[in-house]
Amino acid sequence: MIFKLEKYNGIHRIVSLALDEDTYDNLLKEDLDFIYVDDNSLKLYPEDMIISTDEKLIDKIKSAHNYDVFELWENGKLISCYDDESLDNAFFVTGKCNSNCIMCPSPNVSRQKGKNSDVDQLIEIAKHIPSDTPHLTITGGEPFMIGRDIFRFIQYLHDKFTCTEFLFLTNGRIFAVDSFMNKFIETVPDNSIVAIPIHGSTAQINDMITQAKGSFAQTVKGIKQLLKANIRVELRIVVSKLNASDLHDLALFISQEFSEVEYVSIMAMEMTGNARVNQDKVWISYKEAGRLAQDAALVLIENGIDVRLYNFPLCSVSKEFWTLCKKSISPYKVRYGDVCDECKMKKSCGGVFAGTLSLEKGELKAIV
Ligand code: SF4
Repeated sequence: MIFKLEKYNGIHRIVSLALDEDTYDNLLKEDLDFIYVDDNSLKLYPEDMIISTDEKLIDKIKSAHNYDVFELWENGKLISCYDDESLDNAFFVTGKCNSNCIMCPSPNVSRQKGKNSDVDQLIEIAKHIPSDTPHLTITGGEPFMIGRDIFRFIQYLHDKFTCTEFLFLTNGRIFAVDSFMNKFIETVPDNSIVAIPIHGSTAQINDMITQAKGSFAQTVKGIKQLLKANIRVELRIVVSKLNASDLHDLALFISQEFSEVEYVSIMAMEMTGNARVNQDKVWISYKEAGRLAQDAALVLIENGIDVRLYNFPLCSVSKEFWTLCKKSISPYKVRYGDVCDECKMKKSCGGVFAGTLSLEKGELKAIV
């Protein structure tokens, strides 16, 4: 959500939102900057300064929630960075990444020249988030590309959010470096899970996909070090044309090498960024990806490993696998085809990515 406050021209700052007096009192007590919404105005605290009297905007901002957090810019732009009613809140640490996966949904330019977030700013946002928030994700790019300064932020999260579940999305290569690994063990919040993609059962396949020589060896070492330190790990497999013939072997490799992982998520691609540029090399149909995902899932399940299927519409997998399918696509990216209106499973189905809908050629089949 983005709003424009016509009467604000102060400094850049992080603010919470109060829509009622209880929240107003709490935020004042906690000494946090916040915006209070009444029927006639938006007021900024602690200054007690009117920053908008625009009726339409006041109405719109009432659809946000108490304790939501926003970035307020010098020009009056108010940009949402935390939604207190959502389970999908994330800290974006950097656009940069040390891998360059062929099927990455981010564009190449963001990996090379992406912006780093300022750690003090991330901490300031975290300060405004209620300590009982259920879930927060740390993501990028590759979040650890900002270097050791990230541990100040992780330490802050550790100290403030004692009940929150954290999901770290990382390529895991950094955990092959002992000094980073040790610092992570020291600072990581107790209720954390580290989600790492693995693309093939061999260095040749994995590194061909990441376009980063040596990444397989680093990822494998990183995963082993995390598991040895009793840190929960989720492994992610993105199904593409490039690892299609290796998925069965990859499932066997994971079963043999990483049997203690929390679960494995097998994922259909999001066709934006690099994936879109390399469409001819990477795209396989939902039907084929679904068939291969099921085969790999069976190998993992037979070896006692939990499996989740992400981004697969229900009609792309057999009924027996529906319970593994998660509604994993962020709501603003979800699309359904025309046939979906006839489908009795539409409410339970997570649909497909907006950037992928145009690639399905009659594969979505209404379940009737
Ligand atoms: S037809 Fe549409 S709603 Fe039904 S399972 Fe397929 S994608 Fe989902």
